[in-house]
Amino acid sequence: MIEDAMRIDEAEAWRAVRARDRTADGRFVTGVLSTGIYCRPSCAARHPRRENVRFHPDPAAARAAGLRPCLRCRPDDVAADELAIARAIALIAEAEMPPSLTEMAEVAGYSPHHFHRLFRRATGVTPAAYARAVRARRVEQALAAEPDVTAAVYAAGYAAPARFYADADRRLGMTPGAWRRGGQGEMIRWCRVPTALGAMLFAATGRGVCRLAFDEGEDDLRRRFPLARVEHGGADMVTQAARAVAAVRMPAGGPAVSDAVRRAAFEEAARMELARPPIAGEADRDAA
Ligand SMILES: [Zn+2]
Repeated sequence: MIEDAMRIDEAEAWRAVRARDRTADGRFVTGVLSTGIYCRPSCAARHPRRENVRFHPDPAAARAAGLRPCLRCRPDDVAADELAIARAIALIAEAEMPPSLTEMAEVAGYSPHHFHRLFRRATGVTPAAYARAVRARRVEQALAAEPDVTAAVYAAGYAAPARFYADADRRLGMTPGAWRRGGQGEMIRWCRVPTALGAMLFAATGRGVCRLAFDEGEDDLRRRFPLARVEHGGADMVTQAARAVAAVRMPAGGPAVSDAVRRAAFEEAARMELARPPIAGEADRDAA
């Protein structure tokens, strides 16, 4: 117990239990001496008395202390859920074509419906949206690295150019050729706004978003698009970006995912919010 107490902030853990905080699931389990069971922090069952509670870093430690898993919140499933999401994310990263929901659910070991809900809870976006984000990054990298657009089409895993151009048109804010030529002839407006996961760069041409990224700023943008005109987007753009950020649905607990996955999912969610038709009268129409 002394060892456990050193690793878990007990006051914080008890607060999470009282709040049934799902984001605490997987960080520790709650052992209840009076019933002999252990729970996820978010267990919906009636709260035990504080003096009967002992916190353990994981299910194995709770079992070693002689406790049984709660049948209601199934604390042992947290690790299984994390593994399921990790498998799906690996499949998305490795697959040439974005995998179907059925394929992702299959490697995760869950039904498509259950997997879809679990993924959304963990990342805030659907598996399809996350897969789109991964593929879009691949397109950007291929355009920067390959000798021409045709080579980039295949390097990004597209079987034919038609689909590539359709996707690129929606996502790059400029033609693939212009992107590859460092934004030649483009006018790019940018801003940075704070988010729950750190400051985020928004950059757009008159055609749409051309770059959305954490840990980037004006210098990165100029390096990426050395031949474009780059200007700060002003208060209007900040307002628009901040509104998109505020509308992003954050992960609601569920299995833990890496920061990189959380950020990629957040970028995609912010992009989707930006793409929603603006409320009448708020459209920003001063782009070239
Ligand atoms: Zn429970």
